[in-house]
Amino acid sequence: MRYLSTRGQSPAQSFSDILLGGLAPDGGLYLPEQYPQVTAEQLAAWRQLSYADLAFEILSLFATDIPAADLRDICQRTYRAEVYGYARQPEKAADITPITWLKEGIGLLELSNGPTLAFKDMAMQLLGNLFEYVLAKRGEEINILGATSGDTGSAAEYAMRGKRGVRVFMLSPHGKMSAFQRAQMYSLQDENIFNIAVEGMFDDAQDIVKAVSNDHAFKARYKIGAVNSINWGRIAAQVVYYFKGYFAATQDNSQQVAFCVPSGNFGNICAGHIARMMGLPIGKLILATNENDVLDEFFKSGAYRPRGTAETFVTSSPSMDISKASNFERFVFDLVGRNPARLAELWQQVDQGGFDLSSSPEWAQLEQFAFVSGKSSHADRLATIRSVFASDGLMIDTHTADGIKVAREIAVTGMPVLVLETAQAVKFAETIQEALQQSPAAPQGLADLETLPQRITVMPADVEQVKQFIVAHSE
Ligand SMILES: *Cc1c(COP(=O)(O)O)cnc(C)c1O
Repeated sequence: MRYLSTRGQSPAQSFSDILLGGLAPDGGLYLPEQYPQVTAEQLAAWRQLSYADLAFEILSLFATDIPAADLRDICQRTYRAEVYGYARQPEKAADITPITWLKEGIGLLELSNGPTLAFKDMAMQLLGNLFEYVLAKRGEEINILGATSGDTGSAAEYAMRGKRGVRVFMLSPHGKMSAFQRAQMYSLQDENIFNIAVEGMFDDAQDIVKAVSNDHAFKARYKIGAVNSINWGRIAAQVVYYFKGYFAATQDNSQQVAFCVPSGNFGNICAGHIARMMGLPIGKLILATNENDVLDEFFKSGAYRPRGTAETFVTSSPSMDISKASNFERFVFDLVGRNPARLAELWQQVDQGGFDLSSSPEWAQLEQFAFVSGKSSHADRLATIRSVFASDGLMIDTHTADGIKVAREIAVTGMPVLVLETAQAVKFAETIQEALQQSPAAPQGLADLETLPQRITVMPADVEQVKQFIVAHSE
């Protein structure tokens, strides 16, 4: 399996080659040359598999340059009940992503049972083990530099802690994250994890990461890498739970399932699109946004108009506060018939404000991709959290609430609907308190998290000081 760039100007690469990088050199995103096609026999055989075995079967279609025995071992070490042990239903922890059925008939596919209680652990934990493996094979090291306002940074740190050849330098806005989020990240004592609290906002932290990455000499000398949401390995790992959820929600492979996905950077639902392109019988892919609704606008109108950071709303489902969806380019590449010249032309228009496909023949192709969309607001979120608590006694998080709100509204018939549960309520306790006048309990084992000693370096928002810190700690 080779990987090509959506912009068509970069040479094809192997899975291991693109694993440690980000964008293709031509500015595009990597995708498989063609999507592997799953046969009826494979689907029938996979229905019985454990999560780890299923992950191996699916990932071996994508990571063809990793020997099967090694990949199987990596999948077994990653997808263990002890790693994904924060299940709502502890007796089902071995399923890794069990379904909780609500009384109204909607299923919650639990993706937030990993160490940081958000779905990003599903892929990031695999990435940690894959990075260690590929770096050891190549005799290389990497210094991962990132900026976070919460979920991504902690998922990356918990995935990379203690991994040989990997150091993580994670910038976060000093004093701006919730007490739970701070405790989660800053209590890590691993020698290869460095938390840097920047005196400023998230955007200041992000700007420092960009400035360091644009210093090409520094980047090469200190082997600076990233694990952001465009990483192909993360997308590939996410394909697995669509298969697992499908099998758990059906009796046989003639049935269809609809998935509803709370979306920001389009990474999660992109994996669903790929699962469907491989032949998994997905009847609908329902995309849910919050008030930051660029993607809902596109699927309703054909116009994609990304907004600037200044026009991005700060909402109570903050991990979806994104106005430029970094993985969306992968889907549009398929929508325009995998024509890289056309894709490059559209992304030139994105730089000038956006594009509108509504009067192009490509727009007529949308229907064959089974996407529909909807949006949610803070008031919707509160109402949904209340109604699920009243009917089922479950506390759901704010992002999952956006998904349930939209799934209810779209009301697909003739197939089960699974809403992807992207985080646990305790991570967004403030809004749960607002909705229910009570706070969610931390899962067992995490109750004392906020009392643990913390290890951080506080620093002004200054590129040079961050660089000096990396230099001093990367020998
Ligand atoms: C990252 C995240 C999302 C958005 O996922 P994308 O892949 O960016 O679309 C939704 N909910 C939670 C809790 C997240 O952490």
